[in-house]
Formats: sequence, structure tokens, C-alpha cells
Amino acid sequence: MNAATSITPLRTGSLRLDGGGMFGLIPKSMWARWTPADADNRIALATRSLLVESRDGLVLVEAGYGDKWTDKERAMYALERRTAVDALAEHGVRAEEIAHVVLTHLHFDHAAGLTREAAAGGLAPVFPNARIHVQRQEWLDALANKSTMTRTYLRTHLEPVASRVELHDGECEPLAGIVLVPSPGHTWGHQSVLVRGPREPVLFTGDACPTLHHAHPAASLGYDMMAYESMVTKLRILGRALEEGWVIALDHDAEHALARTMRHDGAIRLEPLDAPRA
Ligand SMILES: [Zn+2]
Repeated sequence: MNAATSITPLRTGSLRLDGGGMFGLIPKSMWARWTPADADNRIALATRSLLVESRDGLVLVEAGYGDKWTDKERAMYALERRTAVDALAEHGVRAEEIAHVVLTHLHFDHAAGLTREAAAGGLAPVFPNARIHVQRQEWLDALANKSTMTRTYLRTHLEPVASRVELHDGECEPLAGIVLVPSPGHTWGHQSVLVRGPREPVLFTGDACPTLHHAHPAASLGYDMMAYESMVTKLRILGRALEEGWVIALDHDAEHALARTMRHDGAIRLEPLDAPRA
């Protein structure tokens, strides 16, 4: 009942971010063994989304970083020239067909893909027929630019779609088979997205657990607004996933889109469910 009928992981782009920033308290001697750094100390990451077919139409979870970037910005983050629209096209879906976009939070690599430069000048929505779902707290914090990163909540990503946004408060199921699960820590209003599909439920954790290696309790992000709460949230949602048999969908792992939780030496670990893919 109420289940989504299909869940498809999409790779919407790739980027590189500073390895120290991505692993917080973990020393480089440890994280560099998990994922090698380039000459600029950056590690390879992906941006990933889910395409969900539900009774409420086609739903995209996460919009990626889009294409409103200068060459200088592209070089800084090694942004691949690829967007959620490219990934959808590979599955025969046009941006106009997306009825809903659900976002974990509004940092640039998740929400900038909501808007594009219009041919006539100015900005236009990338998904012109979509309603956008986000926690109220996240929307308010983004408009107030409440972040230690000064250039991640950009109004150019948000204002052109403001009239399409539906704000949610706490856990709820706004669309058939799609449950919003608050997961604060990375930001105050961060949410994870549980999709009840034809097989095991899939939890898209967002930046609460961005890669396989972030299952390690101490692997917080330097970008987290609240490091301790981020750790508590991660242990809670991964623990719930283990108990309830949920599959984990990762948003930034360079190689893997899906993983399962396992208990190993008393700690929860993530085991990839798919072969590595570019
Ligand atoms: Zn983020």
C-alpha cells in the first residue's frame, strides 16, 4: 500500500572536495587509506539522486549542482559537466515530467540544480512542473544564509523556485511511499528520505552519511553545523536501518550508490550492494 513502484539511483555529477573537510576529526593517515587524495588534497566524490515512480507521479530526490558555474568554480571543485537532467535523459525522463523534487538540504551540491540560466536572461526552474519539498527549518536557514560556508546557500538557487516550495515540519509522508525523516546535524533542518518501494525500503541519508566510509562514528564532516548531533543522528538512522532491513542510498560515494548495514565488532558498517561504477 502506498508504495512507490520503482526506485532508480542516478549519478548526477562528480566533484572533488578537500579530504580533511570531508572527514572532520579522522586523521589523514586514516582517510587517505580509504580514499586517496589528489595533489590538492581533494578526494573524488559523486552527487547522486533517486528517481522514484510513485502514485503521485515521478519524484526526484536531490537536484545536484546543476550547470550555473563559471570555469573558475568548476576548476575549484572539479565539477563534471553533467546534471540531473542528463542522468534523467539516460532513463528516458524529461525534466518537465518530474512532479516532485525532494531535497535533503539546500547546500549548492544538492539544490543549485533546481535553477538554470534562461535563454532570455535571468533564471528559470529546471523542473517547471515540480513541487519542491524541504523542511521549513532548512528553507528559513538557507534564506538567512545561516551556515559556516558563506557561499553554499545562494539565493539564485532558491528564489526562482520559492513559489513551488512545500515546507514540512518533522517526520511525515507527503507523497505516496515517501517518508521525510529529520536527520539534523549537518544542518538544523537536514532530512533523510525513506522510500517504500517494491522491495526493501531505501533510506537516502543525504549528508547525514554521505559515503560508505562515513559509517565510522567519528567521520563527521568539517561542514557539519553540529558535529555531535550529526554523529548521534547517523548512529540512530543507521541503527534503525539495520533493525528494519532498510537499504542505504548514498549521496556522495564516488563508487557506490547503494549499501546495506552490517554489525561488525560491535559497530555498524556499510557494505556496498552494487559493483563499483564510474
Ligand atoms: Zn551539505
